[in-house]
Amino acid sequence: MQKPILMFDMDGTLLDLAFDDLIWNTRLPERHAETHQCTLEESKEILHTFYQQHNHTLCWYSSKYWTEKVEVDVLKLQYDNQEKIAPRPGCFELLEQLKQHGYRCWLLTNADQAGLQLKLENIDLSPYFEVMISSEEIGYSKEFVEFWEILQQKHDFDPQYAMMIDDTEKVLQGAEKFGITQLITIVQPSSGRAARQAHDLNYPAIQNLTELLPLIETSITIQKEFNVKTA
Ligand SMILES: [Mg+2]
Repeated sequence: MQKPILMFDMDGTLLDLAFDDLIWNTRLPERHAETHQCTLEESKEILHTFYQQHNHTLCWYSSKYWTEKVEVDVLKLQYDNQEKIAPRPGCFELLEQLKQHGYRCWLLTNADQAGLQLKLENIDLSPYFEVMISSEEIGYSKEFVEFWEILQQKHDFDPQYAMMIDDTEKVLQGAEKFGITQLITIVQPSSGRAARQAHDLNYPAIQNLTELLPLIETSITIQKEFNVKTA
């Protein structure tokens, strides 16, 4: 039975989203207020409006875009706080298990290339992934079906034998639209925020990343039985 290629999101899935929350919700408003001589509340309001306008687009994930738009060096801000970058529970344990079991893993992130590099400099995910892609390189964010079409042209794969693990529902919807049916989400993307309720989520959800391997093996067994029945 063919094993699925495991496609992982980075922030909020393998890495704790608390770092990104800290940058975008705390450090950037602070720096923005200093730069523009306004109150913290005003900065938060201005930035919140910008975030709403650009959510899920490539711009939203681009530190270059934000640096120009808000006149704060957002990449530098992330480097200044890089000691806060951390993996989510079970991250390396899972990646080691998958390596031992011979799974092929891809890292697909909406972080821009500079953001991806920053994370990899701090958390060494590289040895576990045969493909690492920033949506900046593709030209569409993962929410769009075009992302998946272009990805497939660059790195051929059969959506039937692919599983996507991502904390963002709209990304999973994009993958689903393309034809990936094995989709998993994350109960608590950020250690700084409360866990989401599994019954509020529209996809099977895991908390600790080590819960993933049993799920994959079950889905392979189900598929095997299905194939036997339909053969
Ligand atoms: Mg994510």
